[in-house]
Parts: sequence; C-alpha cells; structure tokens
Amino acid sequence: MVATLTQTDYLIGLEKRYGAHNYKPVPVVIDRGEGVYVWDVEGNRYLDFLSAYSAVNQGHCHPRIVEALVAQAQKLTLTSRAFHNSVLGECERFLCEYFGYDKVLMMNSGVEGGETALKLTRKWAYLVKGVPQNQAKTVFASGNFWGRTLAAISSSTDPESTDDYGPFLPGYLTVPYNDLAALEHTFQSDPHIAGFMVEPIQGEAGVVVPDEGYLRGVRRLCTQYNVLFIADEVQTGLGRTGKRLACDHEEVKPDILVLGKALSGGTYPVSCVLANDEIMLTIKPGQHGSTYGGNPLACAVAVAALQVLEDEQLAQNAEKMGEIFRARMRAIQQKTDLIQAVRGKGLLNAIVVNTDEDSPLAWQMVLKLKEKGLLCKQTHGNKIRFAPPLVITEDQIHTACDLIEEVVLA
Ligand code: PLP
Repeated sequence: MVATLTQTDYLIGLEKRYGAHNYKPVPVVIDRGEGVYVWDVEGNRYLDFLSAYSAVNQGHCHPRIVEALVAQAQKLTLTSRAFHNSVLGECERFLCEYFGYDKVLMMNSGVEGGETALKLTRKWAYLVKGVPQNQAKTVFASGNFWGRTLAAISSSTDPESTDDYGPFLPGYLTVPYNDLAALEHTFQSDPHIAGFMVEPIQGEAGVVVPDEGYLRGVRRLCTQYNVLFIADEVQTGLGRTGKRLACDHEEVKPDILVLGKALSGGTYPVSCVLANDEIMLTIKPGQHGSTYGGNPLACAVAVAALQVLEDEQLAQNAEKMGEIFRARMRAIQQKTDLIQAVRGKGLLNAIVVNTDEDSPLAWQMVLKLKEKGLLCKQTHGNKIRFAPPLVITEDQIHTACDLIEEVVLA
C-alpha cells in the first residue's frame, strides 16, 4: 500500500528540497491567522505564542492595518526616494511626535535599523565628538542579537551566528550585559568610544531581564562619557514589555532608538531609527538609504500599526496579561524541578528548562505544546520563549497556561 502524503508533509518537503536550510522550524505549516490564533493547512487551530518574534503584537491580520495596507497598495506602493511621496512626511511627523525625537530615518528590516544607528554613531563620532578618522568604537553587550548581516554578527558572542563567517567588522567592543561597572571601565579605557548599543531586555539570548536601574545607569554613563546610548527596541518596543518602549520602565530616553518588527503589525517589513538633529543631520544626501525605505506602503502601515497599539491600549494589556502569565508559570515551577527559572516583562517571557543547553528536552516540549495547540519556540537550547500577540485575553492566557502545565507536569 502506498502511504498518502499529508499536505503538511508535502509542503515541508518542498521547503526542504528547494529552500536553503538556514532554519529548523517547528513542523507545522501555517496557512491563516487572526488575532492570537493561526490555523495550519490541515485546519488545526493554535494559539500563537511566538508572534513572529514579536512582530505581530497587534494580532494576526489586524483589520485596520490590513485595510491601510490594501488601500495604499491600490494607490501607490513605491517611488524610491528619488522623488517625494504623499505619505512619507505625515508618517515621519507621526513617528517623531509619538516618540519625541526631532527626526526619523525609515528602513525596512530590523537589522537595517541597527546598521543605520551604527552608521549615524560613526558619523556623529567624527563630525561632532571629534574622534580621529577610522578610530570610532562601538560597545555591545555580550549575548546581543540584532540580526544576521556581517555588521550585526561582528558584535555577536554566539558561535552559531559567527562560525565560518569571518573576518568581522573592526571597531567593536563587548562588555557583559547588566554590568555597569564593566561598562564604565570600558568607557574610561578608550576616548574614541562613540556609542553603546543595547537591548533593554535581551530577547534572542532567552529573555534576559537586567536589574532594575540598569538602563538608568546606562543613560547616566553615556551622558557622563559623551557616548551615544543606542536602544535596540526592535523586539522590546511597541507595547511588548508592558510599556510603549521598554526604556519607559526606567523613564530613560536613548539618543538613538531603533524600532522594527511590530512597526507594521507583521504585515510588511518596516523599521526606523529616531534621533535628534545633532545626530541625524550628520548624514547628508546620498550618504545612506534604501530603495524601499520610507515607501508609501510602509508608511501607511506604520501609522495604522501605531494607532492600533494606542487605541487598543495594547501595552497596558501586555502588562496585565504578563503578570497573570508569570504568576501561573511560577505556580507550575513550585510543582516541579523541570523549570529552573521564569522571567520576563509584559508579554515577553521565557521559562528556563532545568537541563543543559545541548539537551533536546526543551525542543521536545515545544513539539508537545504544538500537538496540544500552542506554538512557541525554544532558544539557546533550554529556554522556551512565550510571546503571544498583545491582544490576548485573560481566558486565552489561562488556556495557554493550562496547556503548558499539562506538558511540564506530564
Ligand atoms: N534587533 C533585535 C533585538 C531583534 O530581536 C532582531 C530580530 O530578531 C533584530 C534586531 C533584527 O531584525 P530583523 O530580523 O527584522 O532584521
């Protein structure tokens, strides 16, 4: 008898045969999404507890964002920046007023946002701070993740990201995360340091939350040593941690703010960098750009995505739902040795499974959760990240926690 191939097997087989093998996805083929739910090609429904790595904060296919996307797509999608377009200026004003900066520079992916921030930092170092040409340094925290380009992995401390990709970009220094003394020591050691780029919570590293006061300390040291504080809020921004920005928890304002992911609610790649004139105007016409950056479609979508965050009070919901989620996880932790730690803020959370990083246990738990109807992804071997869309309700949070409890205590 010939076994019939399921639609899932067929589609996964196509990816395996024709696509590069640079990912190892959970074996589910998603076909449709709405709010916190996605459906696979077999018609099974899942709670999405990854939200496309925090890009779908507003929920899958949010009607207002999709409406803005479709309306703009039918009118004008791309002009390049060789010409002005009728949506960019309003979008730029909206972003600057919303986040409180003089200027914004729009790009597409998160990594391009980070790259733009670093190019601005170098320009500022030479044109404003007075660093001698080619001497500018940028400091990063170990465990950082800001994308996959050569510039981004040059700051990485994760061998999986860097092995066999050298040589790397010079001018980078690394300090331990959440260590103000080490940061100050580094700032003191080199007058040519121009910037410190940091995630307010390290997402890819496994949701590493620094001590209370860390961001305030970073702000203080950056001001004291005339170093730009660059906040990579590509993952933590836009309501994810229970505030508009994760920096808002400590009421600090970075010199350069990088946003991406949920800036489009998951409909389109949009990123941006915000800064004041002293920094932003160091880049002159022709010195940086992107064909798609600031295109009308991206601009229409970004404004809609931010309006949804505000109108639906999604940061506030993230704060409340996150408290419930962590309380439930801690209650489960009391009943088993399997969970070493529960950590997070708002709806950016993780459990650390009590095994070493090479153990397949967390991956097996992820697969069991998938069977029960909850999608999530493990990171760095033994951490499972839980980051649902911010539109999630209390009932849905409890449903998810029940499923996690079943798997953990099985
Ligand atoms: N910065 C942070 C903190 C991220 O988590 C990511 C992606 O996960 C990026 C930057 C890169 O974004 P993108 O994948 O859109 O290039």
